[in-house]
Parts: sequence; C-alpha cells; structure tokens
Amino acid sequence: MRIILMGPPGVGKGTQAKNIVKKYGIVHLSTGDILRAEVGGNTELGIKAKTFMDAGSLVPDELLLDMMEGRLQQDDCKKGYLLDGFPRTIPQAEGLEKIVEKIGPKIDFVVSLTADEDELVKRLVLRGQESGRSDDTEEVIKERQQVYWKLTAPLLDFYQQRNLLHEVDGLGTIPEITDRILNVLE
Ligand code: AMP
Repeated sequence: MRIILMGPPGVGKGTQAKNIVKKYGIVHLSTGDILRAEVGGNTELGIKAKTFMDAGSLVPDELLLDMMEGRLQQDDCKKGYLLDGFPRTIPQAEGLEKIVEKIGPKIDFVVSLTADEDELVKRLVLRGQESGRSDDTEEVIKERQQVYWKLTAPLLDFYQQRNLLHEVDGLGTIPEITDRILNVLE
C-alpha cells in the first residue's frame, strides 16, 4: 500500500500517520522529520534546509525531490509507504509521479485531513509551548498555514483529477479519525 497523507499544519497528520503505518506494516516517511534529522546532523542538506524551515517557508523542490528519489528506492519502501508532508507543491507532485513511474507501483490513495484554520493555529501554539519546536511560534505558524493554502492546497485538485483523493474530517478524537482513515483505505 502506498499512501499520501495531506492536511494543513496542526491537523494531526503525524499522529495519524503513525497509527496507519503500524496497522499496515509500511514505512512512515515524514519529510519534516527527515529534514529535522539532517539539520540535527549538520549535513549539507540540513544546512541548506534550516533557513527555510526556521522561517516557515518551503525547502526548494529540487532538494526534496532528490532526497525522496533516493529514499523511495531503499529496500524498506518495497512493502509500501506512507508519505507525510510530501509532496507539498505541484512541481513536487509532478516530480513524484515521474519517480514512481520509474521505480514501481503507483500511489494507491491520497488522504486529505480537513479542519478549521483557527482551531489549527490554536493547537500549534500549544504544541510549540510543549515541544519547543523552533518553528511552532505564532508568527511562523501563520506563515506555514499561508504556505499550505497557497502552495499545497492546489494538490487537492491535482489528485482529484487523478481520482486518488479522499477527504477525511480531521476534527474529533485520535481513534475516531484513525477509524475514518482506515474506512477509506479498506
Ligand atoms: P513538517 O514537520 O511537515 O511541518 O515540516 C517542517 C518544515 O520542513 C516545513 O515547514 C518546511 O520548511 C520543511 N518541509 C517538510 N516537508 C517539505 C516539503 N515536502 N517541501 C518543502 N519543505 C518541506
């Protein structure tokens, strides 16, 4: 099973991703987590990515596409994967299509979690206070929301046209939302 999980920052993608990959025994590929590890390791990619991440803007498409082309060819992805936070722009989605054409089975489902924007900002401010994530301050959160609506939301149409899109209500308890997603996948 190959899944793309989409949704605005704060909708709970990461938590839901963990539940889904556990259920299907597939790999969880969060580009945010991968990039944070690169930043932590002070790698060439991490150094390039950090400025964009701290500002709440997107890391350039070419960097993401190179990184994911390599990652998706690793052995653990053969049994399936869930993409969390990628693709985030139309060029990334087009690039992903090319990669997938080259390396193997197509994406089966795109799940988009939906929620009210004000509620999301409230949740993220709280998460920032609890976790200390450097990009969870109110100003950066607002920037990340705007980036989502401007650059990432057009992907909903892109995947709708390919008959892959499933919208799932992202408000409710964690198990409720997991059940809604599993209903789509089953
Ligand atoms: P996330 O944890 O998914 O919210 O990602 C944190 C930050 O990493 C984002 O605000 C971006 O700066 C960067 N990032 C993660 N995934 C992508 C992507 N697909 N394209 C560009 N930047 C990304």
